[in-house]
Amino acid sequence: MVKDTKLYDLLGVSPDADDNQIKKAYRKSALKYHPDKNPSAEAAEKFKEITSAYEILSDSQKRDIYDQFGEEGLSGQGGGAGGFGGFGEDLFSQFFGGGGSSRPRGPQKGRDIRHEVPATLEQLYKGRTAKLALNKQVICKGCEGRGGKPGSVKKCTSCNGQGVKFVTRQMGPMIQRFQVECDACQATGEIIDPKGRCKECNGKKVNNERKILEVNIEPGMKDGQRIVFQGEADQAPGIIPGDVVFVVSEQPHPLFKRDGNDLSYEAEIDLLTAVAGGEFAIKHVSGEYLKVEIVPGEVISPGLIKVLEGKGMPIPKYGGYGNLLVKFNIKFPPSHFTSEENLKKLEEILPPRTLPSIPSNAEVEECVLTDYDANKHRSKSGANGRGQSYDSDDEEGGHHGAEGVQCASQ
Ligand SMILES: [Zn+2]
Ligand SMILES: [Zn+2]
Repeated sequence: MVKDTKLYDLLGVSPDADDNQIKKAYRKSALKYHPDKNPSAEAAEKFKEITSAYEILSDSQKRDIYDQFGEEGLSGQGGGAGGFGGFGEDLFSQFFGGGGSSRPRGPQKGRDIRHEVPATLEQLYKGRTAKLALNKQVICKGCEGRGGKPGSVKKCTSCNGQGVKFVTRQMGPMIQRFQVECDACQATGEIIDPKGRCKECNGKKVNNERKILEVNIEPGMKDGQRIVFQGEADQAPGIIPGDVVFVVSEQPHPLFKRDGNDLSYEAEIDLLTAVAGGEFAIKHVSGEYLKVEIVPGEVISPGLIKVLEGKGMPIPKYGGYGNLLVKFNIKFPPSHFTSEENLKKLEEILPPRTLPSIPSNAEVEECVLTDYDANKHRSKSGANGRGQSYDSDDEEGGHHGAEGVQCASQ
């Protein structure tokens, strides 16, 4: 049972209506009473009422409060029936696009403040506490957010505390209504007696304050993860302050890549270690050096991926660590690194050469490789499509002939 059905009645729905029915009902009435369609003062009042009703009933939290406690339950939250905060136009433009002419004013909850916190993989591995200074507005302690001594702050009589006024203007046969900011109170809805004006905030009701927040980056936190300080954003009278939200921004690492809780690393080892075993080291994001053995007998080929289990990132909550994937690059010795005599010895050691497989009846041309030079060998589309080289800087894209091949065998 709901305590009071007034807001439901305003929209013409039953108290057990679902969100969709409420939305439809609002849409229908809003179109009927919107000042653009219906310039009478009664319609404007009605439009405000239905909009305020919708504002409450479309918010599940507020609707619960209203159902349980009626409108009194919502007073003090702002936006209760009667305390229209200029939502009407905003809601209306959300629904129907454009049309809204008033400035947005007085949301229920203040704006959240978002900050990026850059963190290296090393910092995300170990965790870190960053102290970050925040400049924010707080309710003035001198006047408790009133702007002046008790009794010196009065509701503006010119706009009846709304901060805005409706003016009518005759344009030919039409009478148009406009909403304008109240100049008597600078759209604040209040007049402060200069004698009683708060000296601390000069009537602004809020003061700037610098606050240090300790942002705790837990080991294993991920890029984009949020650390929320609830209600730490700017304070202002009549609103619930928003949150300060820190968003972890993982910095790219020159050597390690991260994929969830796993890390990957490209290790370069020499040919001898790759075929005959040996050791190599990895400077880990933990700060330690990992010494890794390749057991003689195992051959590491280029591009092979092996795993160091448990050497990935810490896993938050569940504990433990991800894995470290190691991809191998093999550093081959330079040309002419040894004598022909020694190469003959390799023939005895390494598995025999794989001979080219060419059908016995095939036509064969003997070819010689040259070193690749990008300038000289960049492919050009010749008239015969055979990849002729021209010494011009003509860079017409589109066709790509054979690259860096000197002989065309057919
Ligand atoms: Zn003050
Ligand atoms: Zn005013």
